[in-house]
Amino acid sequence: MDFTLPDKHEMIQDVVRDFAETEIGPIAQEIEEDHRFPEEVFEELGELDLMGVPAPKENGGAGGDYLMYAVVAEELGRVSGAVGLSYVAHTSLGLMPIINFGSDEQIEEWARPLAEGDEIGAWALTEPSSGSDASDMNTVAERDGDEYVIDGTKQFITNANVANSVLVKAVTEPGAGYDGISTFIVDPDQDGFEVTTVWDKMGLNASPTCEIQLDGVRVHENRLLGEEGDGWTQTKKTLDGGRISIAALSTGLAQGAFEAARDYATEREQFDRPVSKFDAVRDMIVSMDRKIERARLLTHKAAGPRRLRLHHRLPAPAVLPRRQADGNRRGDQRDSAPRLGPRTRAVTSSPR
Ligand SMILES: Cc1cc2nc3c(=O)[nH]c(=O)nc-3n(C[C@H](O)[C@H](O)[C@H](O)COP(=O)(O)OP(=O)(O)OC[C@H]3O[C@@H](n4cnc5c(N)ncnc54)[C@H](O)[C@@H]3O)c2cc1C
Repeated sequence: MDFTLPDKHEMIQDVVRDFAETEIGPIAQEIEEDHRFPEEVFEELGELDLMGVPAPKENGGAGGDYLMYAVVAEELGRVSGAVGLSYVAHTSLGLMPIINFGSDEQIEEWARPLAEGDEIGAWALTEPSSGSDASDMNTVAERDGDEYVIDGTKQFITNANVANSVLVKAVTEPGAGYDGISTFIVDPDQDGFEVTTVWDKMGLNASPTCEIQLDGVRVHENRLLGEEGDGWTQTKKTLDGGRISIAALSTGLAQGAFEAARDYATEREQFDRPVSKFDAVRDMIVSMDRKIERARLLTHKAAGPRRLRLHHRLPAPAVLPRRQADGNRRGDQRDSAPRLGPRTRAVTSSPR
């Protein structure tokens, strides 16, 4: 079995790694401290044709597969988790549902500018009282002629304050449970749409996480994504792809933490030798490397078949790599912290 990346994917990996190290690395800490979404980085990602990697070329994307997308997400996460997070939210949550479930007109009007990198996307499912139990939502969309009127509050929405379109989930048929939820393409400039909070988080603050209020937001029926009642099925399919990109992002975060720890352990000397020469330190570094490689292989395994299953059920491997990579990221950041020393520890801890 061949575990190497295809040539095209390796080429993209080199391009993104170089871009991330030269353009994002130098500002990664500063944008975290300033809680600043780096618009210029996303513009440049658009110029590199990376804002719609898995979207078809005819819709403005790069026509790549999910493996290529995972490679890009990992490289961004390695240098800045926040840039990686906003990037995957834009792609997996803001863009791909329109590509997968939208009409030709919706794809042309709303997905193309996202895929070409002219606009930023967001996706609003979560609410203050519905998180894991996401279908138990209070946001409603009531039909009024050829329009819907949306009322509700959405919570923890990535990119909402910088987005040009937000895919909002709302109940169109109260009492119908999973079958009563629909998705609407909402323009944040519309009357009644307001970002009420941009949350301070423990980290990843260059990626805005917002609360939004929808107060009588009117959308024409041509902004309904798919059919009325399709919203929950679309959500599950969207999260299938999202899990792969979060796994890739988490693998990248762990890789970045690992490299910082390894470099510091090699450079820092105690008892007349680099601390990496001590077995206890070396064992931890080797163990981090092994766990990251495991997460990467699982992620690539899930991403590989994904291109063939876009419209099908959850690929069984999709949940596994995210769990592995999330666990690694937490474990490796914890393991690496004592070895990073005071100089670099702030990179992985809360700026405020
Ligand atoms: C940085 C960030 C960005 C986000 N971006 C978006 C976005 O763009 N769009 C969007 O819609 N949402 C977004 N979210 C929201 C995210 O999807 C929710 O945080 C998630 O669904 C969990 O919901 P919750 O935070 O309300 O936790 P809760 O559902 O309240 O869960 C609290 C705890 O209980 C545990 N728990 C819950 N149910 C069970 C169970 N059945 N068994 C065992 N344990 C359980 C959970 O694992 C968790 O530890 C974002 C969140 C974060 C932190």
